[in-house]
Amino acid sequence: MTTDADRPDDPIDRNTSRRRPKAEMLQIGERKLRPATLMMGHGYDAALSEGALKPPIFLTSTFMFESAAAGKRHFEGITGKRPGGAEGLVYSRFNGPDQEILEDRLGIWEEAEDALVFSSGMSAITTVMLAHVRPGDTIVHSSPLYAATEGLISRLLANFGIKWLDFPAGATRDEIDAVLHRASHGRVPLIFLESPANPTNALVDIEAVRASRDAIFAEEDRPLIAIDNTFLGPLWQCPLHHGADLVVYSLTKYVGGHSDLVAGGAMGSKSAIAPIRAIRNTIGTIVDPHTAWMLLRSLETLELRMSRAGENAAKVCTWLRDQPKVDRVGYLGFLEEGSRQADIYRRHCTGAGSTFSLYLKGGEKEAFAFLDALKLAKLAVSLGGTETLASHPAAMTHLSVPPERKAALDIGDNLVRISIGVEDADDLIADFEQALRAV
Ligand SMILES: *Cc1c(COP(=O)(O)O)cnc(C)c1O
Repeated sequence: MTTDADRPDDPIDRNTSRRRPKAEMLQIGERKLRPATLMMGHGYDAALSEGALKPPIFLTSTFMFESAAAGKRHFEGITGKRPGGAEGLVYSRFNGPDQEILEDRLGIWEEAEDALVFSSGMSAITTVMLAHVRPGDTIVHSSPLYAATEGLISRLLANFGIKWLDFPAGATRDEIDAVLHRASHGRVPLIFLESPANPTNALVDIEAVRASRDAIFAEEDRPLIAIDNTFLGPLWQCPLHHGADLVVYSLTKYVGGHSDLVAGGAMGSKSAIAPIRAIRNTIGTIVDPHTAWMLLRSLETLELRMSRAGENAAKVCTWLRDQPKVDRVGYLGFLEEGSRQADIYRRHCTGAGSTFSLYLKGGEKEAFAFLDALKLAKLAVSLGGTETLASHPAAMTHLSVPPERKAALDIGDNLVRISIGVEDADDLIADFEQALRAV
């Protein structure tokens, strides 16, 4: 019979599998290894998988226990009877080897204690919200948010008695203070940010949000600060360093990076992640093993892909900006020196990304002519893939946004959204040049 006395001296204190190597190699001598290096091996012990260099895809719905006592221990961890989560794998709605390795590797990029992966960016955001909000609460958020996130808050969660207040993405400390003061009359469990915002590219001052929250809320009532880092993370913005408690992702975009999967993630401290894990365990919003495996492959080239896309975008935007048929280019590399947005960028970001707004001279007719003439860039929504994508927010992603709000967000009929990929930059410029001629 196995008893507690048979447990190893150093029980692993989190949701973890036997496939995890005993001692993780995070440094060589004094040198701390960089994420790009760790993506090739971290969290995987080949000796536990017949020496397979790459982690196999574990297609199983359930896992065998070594003993009945071990099964009981695992369930004590899963149900929260014992702190620290399960010590082994139990059932694939809770976790699996591929997903655990992926979570470990995503945590490396954000320097987060813990991470969770989900079946989509929206299921990540929904699970985060369900874990923290109750009827009568107010969610404070920056504005605009990804359209489905706005809908989740203002329509779905509103049905359950949850209210919201917002401040514009570029808000100053005083403006953030004013909104948090108003909200602080009730319970505020969550401040939800998105930076840069879609499609305006407006940046949120995470440091100011953190300072404002800490000044306005007593320690025991402090809302978690969560941020959607899909557009610049993990390479160009690390929000946990600037005061966020939780980072969420659509891994569908740059992290997946090949426009061939849908997935999401959340990273943060163990205490911020624990209640979200409990809800994910209950409702099963975890990503499947095959998609997790695809993401492991994607992570090996993440830095290469994002760096190349970022360099390409800088070249393309610099060229576009001078074209006579272009009104202006909304690109984070072109923020006005001395402006508040440039100040936020300098403090929070290390790169301008590869997704930007191109405002043509004219309206829908000119924008559609441009889009229809593109030969290399593909006409599709989404972003962050190896291939360049172009779309028309006013007629596509933001079609249902009321006209006044469209005007306030600068979503005109002349706006084309572009996500630059890893093609040759001069080939892309040639494509945009011939498409502009067709306008
Ligand atoms: C795409 C996206 C989402 C939603 O992610 P899915 O993976 O499509 O569910 C959320 N936030 C941002 C900023 C996005 O771009």
